[in-house]
Amino acid sequence: MQIAMVQDKIVPFEDLAPVYLDRGTFFGDGVYEVLRSYDGHIFALEDHLKRFARSLNETNITGVDIDDIRTKVVEAFEKAKIDNAKIYFHITRGSGVRDHTSITNIKPNFFLTVTTLEDATEQKTNGIKVSTFPDWRWKRCDIKSLNLLANVLAKFDAQKKGCSEAILVNDNDQITEGSSSAFFAVIQSKLVTHPLGKDILPSITRKIVLEIARDTDLEVLEKTITPAQAKNADELFIAVTTRDIVPVVEFDGQMTGDGTPGKYTKQLMQKFAEMVKRF
Ligand code: PLP
Repeated sequence: MQIAMVQDKIVPFEDLAPVYLDRGTFFGDGVYEVLRSYDGHIFALEDHLKRFARSLNETNITGVDIDDIRTKVVEAFEKAKIDNAKIYFHITRGSGVRDHTSITNIKPNFFLTVTTLEDATEQKTNGIKVSTFPDWRWKRCDIKSLNLLANVLAKFDAQKKGCSEAILVNDNDQITEGSSSAFFAVIQSKLVTHPLGKDILPSITRKIVLEIARDTDLEVLEKTITPAQAKNADELFIAVTTRDIVPVVEFDGQMTGDGTPGKYTKQLMQKFAEMVKRF
């Protein structure tokens, strides 16, 4: 008799709910998105859907209609009636027996949540501390896949050190990005961030920050920096959908600038907030 055990209950294998046989759980075989709303309006929905479609395509997950995803996201958001919401959704390749390549007759599973965004005012006002951690991730970090164990371990390490974000450093001593954010440095009026490629996520917030920066005195440089360079940077910040721009005031125990959010960072935050209002 084929059986399964769920917590402490034995059930016949045939009676298992498909959710227990999700390839997302077995293999991290799925892709996801996180987007947000500002004051009742979903922000950058098309950018997120485009990135999601790309993630599906790069992982050969087929049978997903992006127009249907858009409808689901909007419907759920309207139903939740949360003005400043975090919208998470994922698609996994489907449910079936645990076999790496047995995927005939399975269809993608969709899951979505709409929850209240945590208030980031304190972090945005006072800045956060960050610490470095080795970038242990795979070689396709441009895909927003459900395989986040390396990110989770990095973030736990940061938390243990009293930091809010882990900044990932690759084997060549170069900073790639945060465990769940893009990373920026301001060095002598230059805004520096890792170039797009397979080793970072094409962050939507990163893209917007680079657009906004065109309206400032900052020169944009998409190049890698080392932790030593970050330690000596004039300003640092992270960028992520759920909190947009968050100043970094301490990097691996060393104060950044004068230990308060930098002037360019504040200017970019201001411009970001103005852009959101016009959205
Ligand atoms: N980099 C990583 C590894 C992330 O997980 C995230 C967001 O979760 C980001 C960057 C920021 O991406 P976005 O601006 O699209 O939220």
